[in-house]
Amino acid sequence: MSLGEPPILVRDRLFIGNINHAAKVLQEGDEEITHILSLLSSASISFFSESRSNISIKTREIQKVYAGDDARSSSNDQVQSENSAVGNEKLLYSLEFAGPELKQVRMAVPLRDMENENLLDYLDVCLNFIEESRKEGSVLVHCFAGVSRSAAIITAYLMRTEQLSLEDALESLRLRCASVCPNDGFLEQLKMFEDMGFRVDHASSTYKRFHLKQLGESYNRGDKIDFSKFGTDPGSATETFSSEAANSAKSTKVYRCKRCRRIVALQDHVVSHTPGEGEACFEWKKWRSGNTFNCSDEVECSSIFIEPLKWMTAVEEGALEGKLSCANCEARLGNFNWSGIQCSCGSWITPAFQIHKSRVDLSTL
Ligand SMILES: [Zn+2]
Ligand SMILES: [Zn+2]
Repeated sequence: MSLGEPPILVRDRLFIGNINHAAKVLQEGDEEITHILSLLSSASISFFSESRSNISIKTREIQKVYAGDDARSSSNDQVQSENSAVGNEKLLYSLEFAGPELKQVRMAVPLRDMENENLLDYLDVCLNFIEESRKEGSVLVHCFAGVSRSAAIITAYLMRTEQLSLEDALESLRLRCASVCPNDGFLEQLKMFEDMGFRVDHASSTYKRFHLKQLGESYNRGDKIDFSKFGTDPGSATETFSSEAANSAKSTKVYRCKRCRRIVALQDHVVSHTPGEGEACFEWKKWRSGNTFNCSDEVECSSIFIEPLKWMTAVEEGALEGKLSCANCEARLGNFNWSGIQCSCGSWITPAFQIHKSRVDLSTL
């Protein structure tokens, strides 16, 4: 996409573009484009004036929405930074009127073009915005260069609306705009999106593994781990099930401490892994060369790996690794290690919150 050319029409009422395209619409207005989805490292409109000289864009805030939070309106004159101000909540998106006559609606999502950037958690809001915008007018989806971030979001949109595989959606987009090239991390996440049936299913193993990996990367970067975001402790008396959950609770499989019977985890907290996916297993297979022996059928995992839960107070202290003990009787249940633990089947799980099967019983609630 070169500088002088207009944004490219991908589908009826759906354009892909770069920051220049968006700046032009926001500064001069546009007869056709009524909605803009900005995917830039900052959601703030000042990003345009910082990267482009002599530009001023009129805006009026509609709302800011933070991750894991309901919609929250904030007044215009109240300056909030994207990561602090309101606790440690992360901005999911901001919505504002923009353009010379404040006729355009801009949704801005803070997203960096990096492989480890979490794209999945933004997909729902972005795809829904595109869908709604196309009912009212035309939408321009743009990032800085119009190559990676905007292409990833539009690819996901085509996948969901046209039920296309990642490959087919990307190929279809490339027919309109040959230069698109989402980064490898985005492609990996779009593949997960396909595996989850074109939705972001937080209960799926795919999402849980992704979420855990993100948490591990965050720990490795030295970020403070937000303990309040750990999973609800199913064994705590103060944590009650919702009435809806209570109905299905009778059939819920739970792991209990063998010594004191306290609930350690629900079956839903288990993050499954493919037995035998690991170097040690691979070497072992090589050693038995010529044999078609499949170790995954042979070795039963001696541990389960679960999401980090609120009873794991040892994790809160910030150590790289440590023991996991029952919150009631202090019996040793397993270990945690942010660098990973190898399961008995050979698979490496990183980060790992490991419970030895020999220390717990699986039963119904
Ligand atoms: Zn295993
Ligand atoms: Zn116990």
